Amino acid sequence: MNETRWIYIDGKFLPKEEAKISVYDHGFLYGDGVFEGIRAYEGNVFCLDEHIDRLFLSARAIALEPPISKKEFSDIIVETLKRNGLKSGYIRPIVTRGKGDLGLDPRKCPKPSVLVIADTLAIYPEEFYKNGLEIAIVATRRNLPTALPPQVKSLNYLNNILARIEVNRMNVGEGVMLNSEGFIAEATADNIFIVRKNVIETPATYHGALPGITRNCVIELARKDGKEVLETALTPYDLYTADECFLTGTAAEVVPVTKIEDRIIGSGKPGLITCRLRELFKSITSTRGRKY
Ligand code: PMP
Repeated sequence: MNETRWIYIDGKFLPKEEAKISVYDHGFLYGDGVFEGIRAYEGNVFCLDEHIDRLFLSARAIALEPPISKKEFSDIIVETLKRNGLKSGYIRPIVTRGKGDLGLDPRKCPKPSVLVIADTLAIYPEEFYKNGLEIAIVATRRNLPTALPPQVKSLNYLNNILARIEVNRMNVGEGVMLNSEGFIAEATADNIFIVRKNVIETPATYHGALPGITRNCVIELARKDGKEVLETALTPYDLYTADECFLTGTAAEVVPVTKIEDRIIGSGKPGLITCRLRELFKSITSTRGRKY
């Protein structure tokens, strides 16, 4: 099982042990860079174009110009999977500001670095999907869009990590982050949805959510299935009183939530609409994207 992993760094594939970046890289010194989390299912890179588009938008937002094109990035991702003999797995593309000096000025970093890691994925235990997760609202607020826009998937995840530390202390499955005004933004590494009177609702991204690829797919699948979906403003009250609740994310896919802070959601079992959306989502994972 101790297979060598091949990591792509700036034009070369190196064994995991030799794949290193400079301590002067601003990705390391300042979290100055962007990344993606992508999944491959049975020889299909799920929603590859959508992930690459988001990566390039994140880069644009921080005035970082990837040194390769979208097409080249896509090809490198597929090549990394092939070199690692992975038909299913998790892919982590990264663009860092590159090597500079100890000051934070990006102008001192002449060349961004590109990395692609591909590995197996530890999937969530089946029990989470059968029984649903317990979640809680954390004290850490989501970054202000006027400070560090949550739409940018940057290498600086401290906001989410501080929230995750609270989640661990509370010993629950995931944490819900509110924005500075007290509206629900998202979970620490997933988007959140509720169902009320057969209407599916999720916070609009301007409330401080990453525009999740899984979120977008679920919205599209639900609408095609004839359901009403609202991207709206949600408060803790809406969560506490929802008929159903679920989280979406690349690793989690669609995972039901059945308890929040001592309150049972709906019947306490994964909801009907949640299960339907999970099924619909699973039906597209090995077809939508780029085959290899
Ligand atoms: N929100 C945050 C903060 C995330 O890091 C992620 C990705 N894990 C998501 C939401 C879900 O996005 P996606 O469906 O694209 O994985």
